[in-house]
Amino acid sequence: MELALNEFDLIEKFFVPLAGPEGLGLKDDAAHFSPPPGFDLIVTKDAMVEGVHFPDGEYGAQIAERLLRVNLSDLAAKGASPRGYLLSLAWPRHLPVYSIEAFAKGLKSIQKKFALSLWGGDTVATPGPLVISATLIGVCPEGMACKRFGAKPDDDIWVTGHIGKGFVGLSSLSHPKGPQRPRDYFYKPAPRLELQRILRAWANASIDVSDGFVADLDHLAKASHLAMSVEVSDHLWPSEISEKSLALPETVPSLLTHGDDYEILFTAHADQRALIHEACETFLFPVTRIGKCHLGEGVSVTYKGKKLKFEQTGYSHFKS
Ligand code: ADP
Ligand code: MG
Repeated sequence: MELALNEFDLIEKFFVPLAGPEGLGLKDDAAHFSPPPGFDLIVTKDAMVEGVHFPDGEYGAQIAERLLRVNLSDLAAKGASPRGYLLSLAWPRHLPVYSIEAFAKGLKSIQKKFALSLWGGDTVATPGPLVISATLIGVCPEGMACKRFGAKPDDDIWVTGHIGKGFVGLSSLSHPKGPQRPRDYFYKPAPRLELQRILRAWANASIDVSDGFVADLDHLAKASHLAMSVEVSDHLWPSEISEKSLALPETVPSLLTHGDDYEILFTAHADQRALIHEACETFLFPVTRIGKCHLGEGVSVTYKGKKLKFEQTGYSHFKS
């Protein structure tokens, strides 16, 4: 029975129930979407490879969740509201087609949680590892979406939440019987969609922390042709980081460069401080002012009064 499912049957069985009206029942060549008048479309895409972005042999709901959550983080960083997504799957040939069912359950739970629907995609079989990719489509009032460039000299630099969750999350995968929260850092990163109003109204530039805090700060600085200096302190780390591990010289650099934190770095004029603090009051995570933008170039990160040096600032796929 399993082998009898062809590509069209599997789309009908697993994906049509997830489709929004824009997907035309997944019976057409393309999705149709009319953005509301006065809104921009904000579009992003991320791909993940088995054995690179998640452990070998994982094909279930939590992989689907992670895929959509990291894509949602890119929309969150721009201040966009998610609407729909296109899904591309290269499913390993050796797996039964029915194994897509668990994956589809993960998609469904994220769709419900974040109010988005499936608009289409492509499904192929591969002799290689699982490769999954999603293109997310969001909307934002015309001209209000935040960009990486646009920071001004003297802007404050802010960051949401905790830095180093990606590092803690990945480390936790080698202790399957350990506590759940660090595993959630890996499988269920929280896209900071709550930041929408702040980013649209007051931020001058923004980026989500995926490559590594230092690398992403550097991207932000370069995009605005500015220098950025920040001071980090122990409040910034996830609570799983013990004093004992902080005493090791490699810990803080790892937290600051590992990436996959899915927090948001943004800059705003100092006049907006009070408004930003007020807007954050109801959030379940901190939003911390950590530094300033200056004329010049490069980034500087100070910890306990010392300027940190980094051998590498973040993750890069094509580095030898
Ligand atoms: P085409 O022949 O144009 O490539 P397909 O046969 O690949 O179209 O897809 C048929 C329909 O199913 C299209 O609407 C497509 O968007 C949808 N579809 C295919 N794979 C997926 C998927 N993984 N997720 C969502 N929709 C999909
Ligand atoms: Mg077609």
